[in-house]
Amino acid sequence: MGREVIVMVEAECGEKVSVGMLTSSPGEMPVVKPTDLPADLPGRLNTGPPVRMDGAMNTELARRGFTFTTAEWLCVNIDAPEVVAGIHAGYAAAGAELHIANSFSAARHVLEAAGLGDRFESINRASVELCREAIDAAAPHRQWIAGSISTYAAGHDRRNLPGLHALERNVADQARVLAVAGADLIALEMMSDADLCVAMARGAAEAGLPVLLGLICVRDASGRVMLFGRGRDHLYAGENVPLDEVLPSILERMPAGLRLIIAVMHSTAEDTGPAIAVVRAGWDGDIAVYPNTGANNLAGGWDWTDAQTPEAFAASCEQWAARGARLIGGCCGYGPEHIRAMSARLAGLQSEASCEGGACRSMTSVQTNDE
Ligand SMILES: [Zn+2]
Repeated sequence: MGREVIVMVEAECGEKVSVGMLTSSPGEMPVVKPTDLPADLPGRLNTGPPVRMDGAMNTELARRGFTFTTAEWLCVNIDAPEVVAGIHAGYAAAGAELHIANSFSAARHVLEAAGLGDRFESINRASVELCREAIDAAAPHRQWIAGSISTYAAGHDRRNLPGLHALERNVADQARVLAVAGADLIALEMMSDADLCVAMARGAAEAGLPVLLGLICVRDASGRVMLFGRGRDHLYAGENVPLDEVLPSILERMPAGLRLIIAVMHSTAEDTGPAIAVVRAGWDGDIAVYPNTGANNLAGGWDWTDAQTPEAFAASCEQWAARGARLIGGCCGYGPEHIRAMSARLAGLQSEASCEGGACRSMTSVQTNDE
């Protein structure tokens, strides 16, 4: 039997605030059961500790022998759903509250190029449905699903993306399928170009859900935070541009009324803190972070040689929370052990937003270092 302990957090405003129920059994990591937290994701964003996101799907598939450059990756939701479900369940058991469904590579233009256009709806629908079933079975706490839509193009070559108008239409189609299947949020991933951000946000907005805009950020030699556009392969076909310059032009062209979250994603842990600061300076809404660790080996797998340990990741997460990130998780290279360590660390943090009158500006006792 597990033991239950009410978690009390000393808020800066001088009152103790219950942020949830800590349940644990001997030998298990504690997981917060959000008994006092809002049932809806936008409400949850406004109160309590940061929303705990899951870790990567693609690199966990790679760990299980799938290569994520081939049709087997595109079809895994319907050809090997138990594998995808098992990965989602592992993140739920590790404490994740927001899970990204495995629809990253399932854009209409990607599937059509692979001769799989007739599977567009079934692959996308399955990504959300199998995720919901897996996470509900694996953990009792409240959990949400983001449908993933990305800039991934056929053959890992972004020159194969359709024009902006067709792209917007395809994103709208995919977002609607994901929403009908039960997604709570649309995550636009691997965004590294302002025009793509705008076109894809317009398409995603048609589903009527909140949209997370996932920006890849990197510091240049002078330390300036750039929106990443130029990689060593054709996955990225643009240029790196200063994030502080390009962010306003992205934000001013977002669809009216959109519930937007800006994410720093698929960036190194070292670049994530400085990128949060740049986003914060130009954006007063919610910020998410889910970085990368290790390296793509470009053969359809992942190299974990220099990956962050779960303990180091958890410490980084605490720093990012103190800098204002309201959703925190891991992208490529981060697995369930990282999310378990992060969950244990984040569960006790109190949010700035849940304190009255702005009296809780320093929302945690975490010290931020200049990185
Ligand atoms: Zn990634």
